[in-house]
This record gives sequence, structure tokens and C-alpha cells, in this order.
Amino acid sequence: MYFNQGGFIIVHILRCRDLGFNDDFIVIDADPKKAKEKMIEHVKDKHKDEFEELSDFHQEEIISKVDYLLNRGCGCGVLKL
Ligand SMILES: [Zn+2]
Repeated sequence: MYFNQGGFIIVHILRCRDLGFNDDFIVIDADPKKAKEKMIEHVKDKHKDEFEELSDFHQEEIISKVDYLLNRGCGCGVLKL
């Protein structure tokens, strides 16, 4: 699903750092669902140990933060290319 507005494609950017992990991994995707999938895949791959040590509550919190970052309407998470 692409959002075309006036010829611009809106892309969603997720930074691993915004989720509280200490690296520079960034997901850029026009599809928020794919961006979420990629970020969660990355977290479960690269931060497997850290992530699995977290309680269910904190795991949920990180995943809902991904949703929050994708859904916020301001310019920080959404960039026009
Ligand atoms: Zn990371």
C-alpha cells in the first residue's frame, strides 16, 4: 500500500534507537505494516537476547511503540521524498 499525495510517496522511518536499543539500524518503507515487520524482525534477530530477557509487558510495550511511531502524524516519523 503506497500513499501518494501530490506526487510524493510517504515513507515511514523507524529507528531502532527510538525503541531504546543502542544501534543505528533504520527501517524505511512506504508500507507501515512492512516497516513494522522489518523492525520487529531486526529486534528479534539482532537484539534477541536483550528482547527475550524482557518481560512480556516490556515486549508488548516495544511493539506498541512501533505502532505509535508509525501512526504519529508529525514530520519526525514520516518523510516526503
Ligand atoms: Zn537494532
